[in-house]
Amino acid sequence: MAAPKPAFQRILLKLSGESLLGKLANGIDVATARTIAQEIKDVHALGVEIAIMMGGGNIIRGQRVTSEGLERVAADQMGLLATVMNGIALQDALEKLGVVTRHMSAVEIKAIAEPFIRRRAIRHLEKGRVVIFTAGLGSPYFTTDTAAALRALEIKAQVILKATKVDGVYTADPMTDPGAKRFAKIRCIDVLKRGLKVMDATAISLCKDNDLPIIVFNLRKRGNIKRAVLGEDIGTRVY
Ligand code: UDP
Repeated sequence: MAAPKPAFQRILLKLSGESLLGKLANGIDVATARTIAQEIKDVHALGVEIAIMMGGGNIIRGQRVTSEGLERVAADQMGLLATVMNGIALQDALEKLGVVTRHMSAVEIKAIAEPFIRRRAIRHLEKGRVVIFTAGLGSPYFTTDTAAALRALEIKAQVILKATKVDGVYTADPMTDPGAKRFAKIRCIDVLKRGLKVMDATAISLCKDNDLPIIVFNLRKRGNIKRAVLGEDIGTRVY
């Protein structure tokens, strides 16, 4: 039987820091990183070019520490470094599975990661390397969602796959409201108008203005990254 044909040739996968938590309250669960790495490997085996934007919320979120009294810029810098730690963990997990990777940080940290250089990132992808982006955009007051949208545009990814812990975008929070209904698809503008929590408004606006679709899907179901890449009808398509 012929191998299934992916719907996208180049993707940007947005992984929140939370995706690495597993059963932990904080930090990195190595077994969970390994599971995600295996899923990424399965997609890579389809010949898809994969860039990943790594979040850091499992370790620190700037806004939270600011509310406890730390200066916002300092807090965000800590958040940026948290994403680098996650990137190291994911890189290790992928390389243990034999996947060739490159880690690119938006903050110069040369002993650990390459600096982000757009053309070099594209070259890595063309050579079949999985590229892990960390340190968001390297500036405070942003999120890794916005960084995901910007980098996806820069590298000409065809889609952002936004991994979450629910099955897509709902009318309300499905964790707290049993009556919440999932959208099969929804326009960016309606996400903004309804104030739905998909990605932050800056990220959604960037996607809207540049016709970049987002697929919001549940990472906790095994095989879902591959299903999304194969164009199966999972999650919510934001367009
Ligand atoms: N952050 C930042 N600039 C960026 C991206 C991230 O200052 O371009 C900081 C910010 O403090 C944020 C933290 O890094 O709270 C972790 O990123 P994020 O909250 O987006 O991670 P996720 O929610 O995806 O785990």
